[in-house]
Amino acid sequence: MKIGWNNGKGFLVLLFLSLNFVTARAQHQPSLGSTARLMDRALAAMASEKYQDANAHFREIIASNLPIPPEMPYYFAETLYQLGQYHNSDNFVRKYLDLNGFEGEHYTNARALLEKLADPMAAIRSCEFCDSRGYRYQTCTTCHGEGHTEQPCSLCRGHGVIGCSRCAGDGLVTKKNVFNIVEYFECERCSGEGRLTCTQCNGSLVEQGVCATCGGSGTLESETICDHLQTE
Ligand SMILES: [Zn+2]
Ligand SMILES: [Zn+2]
Ligand SMILES: [Zn+2]
Ligand SMILES: [Zn+2]
Repeated sequence: MKIGWNNGKGFLVLLFLSLNFVTARAQHQPSLGSTARLMDRALAAMASEKYQDANAHFREIIASNLPIPPEMPYYFAETLYQLGQYHNSDNFVRKYLDLNGFEGEHYTNARALLEKLADPMAAIRSCEFCDSRGYRYQTCTTCHGEGHTEQPCSLCRGHGVIGCSRCAGDGLVTKKNVFNIVEYFECERCSGEGRLTCTQCNGSLVEQGVCATCGGSGTLESETICDHLQTE
């Protein structure tokens, strides 16, 4: 009995010391407190439906590289939904559910948000005017959506003609007759001209190349959220 009491006292002292230690550590890390402050501000902004402000505060928490409060991904996903950033919202609400499962304080809300996201996510997948994140494609400014650009012909280098390869540009070809005497004939390939219309550009002096800006797709990514409607 006597031994047991002694052990108990020792444990209490140890617990008291370690609590003091935790408090001291927290006081020396004011940045953890700033996460809590940002979180409060974000939630207040959400309560007054200022989703853009709330979203900005959450982004500050993410940028701080400090531990993210466990419920934050859910709130963040809500603000993204309100701002029409459905793909991002879907991402974060799934992360929240993965991390917290049934234990999450907002498990039911998160499931409900995921359901609300089903339609907008399906709309993104079936839309040809936006990328997989739901951002509107913009017409490539270099090729104006053509996917290719014109450049000086690489074969004739802008001359429109190339030397005839059969007669080596002479216009004449030679043959030996039965008496082993060299006879000259007009080159039938170039009709004696010695040159041919460029086979690459057909004399247009330019050739079509894949647009380097868009890689031939004719479109570029943008930061504009797509409304999935065709516009002129
Ligand atoms: Zn020729
Ligand atoms: Zn050419
Ligand atoms: Zn292009
Ligand atoms: Zn779209």
